[in-house]
Amino acid sequence: MSDITRRDFLNGSALTIAAGLTPWAQAVAQPLRYPPALTGLRGHHAGSFEIAHDLRDGRKFSLDGARIEERYDLVVVGGGISGLAAAWFYRNAAGRNARILILDNHDDFGGHAKRNEFRVDGRLILGYGGSESLQSPKANFSKNIAEFLIKKLGVDVARFEKAFDRDLYPSLKLSRGVFFARESFGRDVLVTGDPQPMVSDDIRPEQRNGRPLAQFIADFPVSSESKAQLLGLYDGRIDPLSGKSPDEKLAILKKTSYRDFLMKICGCGEEVANCFQGRTLDFFALGADAIAANDLRELGYPGFAGLGLGEAGNPDLDEPYIYHFPDGNASLARLLVRSLIPGVAPGKTMDDVVLANFDYSKLDVSGARIRIRLQSTCVHARNVKDGVELAYMRGGNLHRVAAKHAVMACFNMAIPYIVPEIAEPQRQALGQNVKAPLVYSNVMVRDWEPWVRLGVHEIMAPMSAHSRVKLDYPVSMGRYRHPRRPSEPIGLHMVHVPVTPGGDARTQFRVGRSKLLGMEFADFEKIIRDELDRMLGPGGFSSARDIRAITVNRWSHGYSYEANSLFDDKEDESTIVAARQPVGRIAIANSDSQWEAYVHSAIDQAARAVRELLD
Ligand SMILES: Cc1cc2nc3c(=O)[nH]c(=O)nc-3n(C[C@H](O)[C@H](O)[C@H](O)COP(=O)(O)OP(=O)(O)OC[C@H]3O[C@@H](n4cnc5c(N)ncnc54)[C@H](O)[C@@H]3O)c2cc1C
Repeated sequence: MSDITRRDFLNGSALTIAAGLTPWAQAVAQPLRYPPALTGLRGHHAGSFEIAHDLRDGRKFSLDGARIEERYDLVVVGGGISGLAAAWFYRNAAGRNARILILDNHDDFGGHAKRNEFRVDGRLILGYGGSESLQSPKANFSKNIAEFLIKKLGVDVARFEKAFDRDLYPSLKLSRGVFFARESFGRDVLVTGDPQPMVSDDIRPEQRNGRPLAQFIADFPVSSESKAQLLGLYDGRIDPLSGKSPDEKLAILKKTSYRDFLMKICGCGEEVANCFQGRTLDFFALGADAIAANDLRELGYPGFAGLGLGEAGNPDLDEPYIYHFPDGNASLARLLVRSLIPGVAPGKTMDDVVLANFDYSKLDVSGARIRIRLQSTCVHARNVKDGVELAYMRGGNLHRVAAKHAVMACFNMAIPYIVPEIAEPQRQALGQNVKAPLVYSNVMVRDWEPWVRLGVHEIMAPMSAHSRVKLDYPVSMGRYRHPRRPSEPIGLHMVHVPVTPGGDARTQFRVGRSKLLGMEFADFEKIIRDELDRMLGPGGFSSARDIRAITVNRWSHGYSYEANSLFDDKEDESTIVAARQPVGRIAIANSDSQWEAYVHSAIDQAARAVRELLD
């Protein structure tokens, strides 16, 4: 194990064992460390989830045994975007004197919207640990977001059009590539010049540096029969469902997975299906075996041109994926925190927040109207006469607070355990939102010359543990500059989704989650090094020499569940609405309340929850 590995591992979980402390006690003992700069195993890090799992497993936390220590107007459970936005909307409606406490079980605020910070060879490099970009703001942003939160926080989405340098990688003649792993395809091969579009592609079609399809496919390490089948998928003269009406075809495509569509309807072999299996993982957290063919028809996957169903598309995903701060949506969380707690950080613009120094000691100051309390897991919330009471665990101790209102902006599936008075039908509805597990790793490397030598800026690896590996988005904002020269250090972004075919989406998510929880930093690191060496080695990359730091953001509870036409039926809308009903003075937020893994849903649901409390 290299030096960097040992240091990162110590920063991750081993230190707690070495010090003989339980993870939460060790973390609370170091309140002044700066969380965004911690490397090793982050995301749902050690110390953040154990109490919640104890609660799930039947441990009892008695509210009555503790005295009420503090009183607030609002207590928010969950310091992600939804919880922070709920605090913001509440203060906006109830007045600047409103007293608000936000509880979160992690050692940093932002929920999935986490910032990863690195110093590499003297240079600051920012990365995003989870929630990445604003998705199609023109199409998706409601009045709440466009006119209130975003405008008041100073986020001008047009600013990203200049900040995101869409020309950088194309100007260096870089393209996307597909990596074929030897375990599935017989030998390791990286094929560059992928001409196919990505969802909400940030690269303009004419700048993709893609090769003609036939040339691109000719280099795949698959049989000539598979190559012919692959080319056939793009041939508009072939209708694999001929004889069916358009409605019948659509009904079939909604109930058939893309993998089955390729193999059972288009007659392709397994080798061809494997070329697409993991291409869907980053966006859906599911492989091609668990996504309806129709969903991928809308995203431009091949096989549908001859069906005569007309142009497919999804207007919600049409805008390019350029609405991205250098630390992803963590900047939104930071803007919210800076607005809620003046004095925590200097500045007032979307540009200056990128490098603003956040003073974590100011998050939870005695006497302040708004306080953010980290490393605090809510274990009980209940309605009482004229208000609510909540209990949370921090540093091994149970604390009790009272408030007029509460917003549960945490995972929907956890709420029935925290609020036992919720009636059975709502418990069932909340429990339907089984979140998807996924891992975003940021790997700092000393330069990106190997990528330029190979001619790629992004690699899709349909049968590898990391299904997507890329040079970070080229975004420069404020005084922060994205590396422009291949000789400079850069952050690589790697996506791992631990699902495997078998069972419906919820089953795959549950199995994947338990697999993730059994993995340590060293396990992730081993896979990262192996796959980077195999993908980039022919370009001169050596993990032993080139890697400077690694942060693994493990999200066992990642994306909100989204309705899936393969496994769900039309009753889902009523399930979603039933799940988010307020319980007395306790309202329910989080992007889970919309069954959409988007930051705009997290904000919309916060606004709705606060309206329910104050109307
Ligand atoms: C890897 C990844 C990438 C994503 N990329 C995008 C993207 O590009 N664009 C986009 O729009 N969305 C993206 N998302 C979706 C993301 O979920 C939303 O954007 C948004 O950040 C969700 O915010 P939230 O506040 O609803 O939930 P969360 O961010 O999950 O916040 C909830 C918080 O509540 C805490 N909590 C839970 N239980 C308790 C308890 N008992 N006590 C105290 N605290 C508790 C949680 O730990 C968490 O910190 C991504 C998600 C992931 C995981």
